[in-house]
Amino acid sequence: MTTIEGNLQGLHQRIAQACAQAGREANQVSLLAVSKTFGPDAVRQAHAAGQRAFGENYVQEGVEKILMLREAFAPSEPIEWHCIGPVQSNKTRLVAEHFDWVQSVDRLKIAERLNDQRPDDLPPLQVCLQVNVDGGLTKSGVAPNALPALAAAVSALPRLRLRGLMCIPDPAEGFEAQRALFLQARALFDRLRAEGFPLDTLSMGMSDDLEAAVAAGSTMVRVGRAVFGSRPKRITSAA
Ligand SMILES: *Cc1c(COP(=O)(O)O)cnc(C)c1O
Repeated sequence: MTTIEGNLQGLHQRIAQACAQAGREANQVSLLAVSKTFGPDAVRQAHAAGQRAFGENYVQEGVEKILMLREAFAPSEPIEWHCIGPVQSNKTRLVAEHFDWVQSVDRLKIAERLNDQRPDDLPPLQVCLQVNVDGGLTKSGVAPNALPALAAAVSALPRLRLRGLMCIPDPAEGFEAQRALFLQARALFDRLRAEGFPLDTLSMGMSDDLEAAVAAGSTMVRVGRAVFGSRPKRITSAA
């Protein structure tokens, strides 16, 4: 068994345990393997172990990997690529043309560019809105009070499909404090659903805090280090 395969098995156990603890079914939480900074070989190994959804933070790096791996897998076992990092205006075309999902939309202008640039022969781009639950002024993410208007505007764009919310709260001390932050995202998610938005994805939880996220209702955890090992320091600044 490869290290990555063993890590994935361990992670599925961790997720199942977190679900059991929270009184949820293990199949209610999917695993996004965050392959940023790792090469195509790491993705191949994870794919061989059954992993199908991968997340990339840096658009350029992600697209290079997507292109390198495009012919690598049978059409019956395709990879689903998620962009989870900040998207600048000058990168929207790359995202629209190569990714299946983008989880980090926090401005209408970016959503409109993605909509305009999504190729006609591809299915709509699946979108999560990144929400800034703990309110850091310098952080990415839409402010909670601006979320309903953004959700309405994005829902009206025909080449995007709004699937849910994503959040990256600051690390908090201990399980309860972390869960409290995730519950804020959960409340926003529930409110949008109650208003009629057909959302099914609440993307939250990473290697160090996935138990708290699952306890708060996460439907997708995004895990890098616990799958692939610790990350080498980035030496380029290309975003
Ligand atoms: C890097 C990253 C992750 C994964 O973080 P780990 O701590 O390696 O599990 C998840 N989400 C986003 C947005 C990231 O940038």
